[in-house]
Amino acid sequence: MTKEINVPIAQDWLKEFCNAVIGLEDYLNELDAAVGDGEHGSNISTGARTLLEEFKSSHHEELGDFFEFVGMTIINSVGGASGALYGTFFLRLSDITANKSSADLAVITDAFTSGLQGIMELGGVKPGDKTLVDALEPAVSSLVVSVKNSDDLLQAFSKAHYAAEFGCAATAQMEARKGRGSYQGQRSVGHIDPGATSMAALVRTFSQAIATDRSPIA
Ligand code: ADP
Ligand code: MG
Repeated sequence: MTKEINVPIAQDWLKEFCNAVIGLEDYLNELDAAVGDGEHGSNISTGARTLLEEFKSSHHEELGDFFEFVGMTIINSVGGASGALYGTFFLRLSDITANKSSADLAVITDAFTSGLQGIMELGGVKPGDKTLVDALEPAVSSLVVSVKNSDDLLQAFSKAHYAAEFGCAATAQMEARKGRGSYQGQRSVGHIDPGATSMAALVRTFSQAIATDRSPIA
């Protein structure tokens, strides 16, 4: 049973995420067409293709260096607000995992908490504003409870995944107050937020990466 992540597992996570959003490209564009400007899928998939290409030649020993590389690659390749927001999330993960070659659930939870704060600060948003925060915040709250309950890593991320999916689905009932979606105002109600959808995929692929971890049992 995986108790900690290291750089190979973190890279598996990001590869799963990149492939997931590339598969969702058209769907994310359609969701963004209803509440924004119709290019969230293209934005995030461009970053995903860049990351997958970079992974072929990149090599990092420490999680902090790996997540910094991921954050900077996203900031430099993803257009739109989501590039800076996702990039900031990974730079916060990098800060918390600096000089570490592995991270357990408690450290990962601290890193995700910091990532969530970074996104809320940069975006000027709170839960309920119909953004990717509405998928990430329930996932982080679930991780915090899992640390208290001493859940194992896979249990914790399975629960966090469901929390993120419920949070994402709940964005359909919300009115966009920030970002391009806010131009649609009341018309955004009834549509799921595209950023919350890609963020739910980020949490889901983390549980996938640890569920399929093939390293020897620690
Ligand atoms: P843009 O909004 O610049 O067109 P994208 O289409 O790539 O960028 O991403 C849109 C998603 O980004 C939204 O669905 C929302 O989840 C998220 N988003 C946009 N603005 C903000 C913000 N200020 N704070 C948090 N999230 C935001
Ligand atoms: Mg957009």
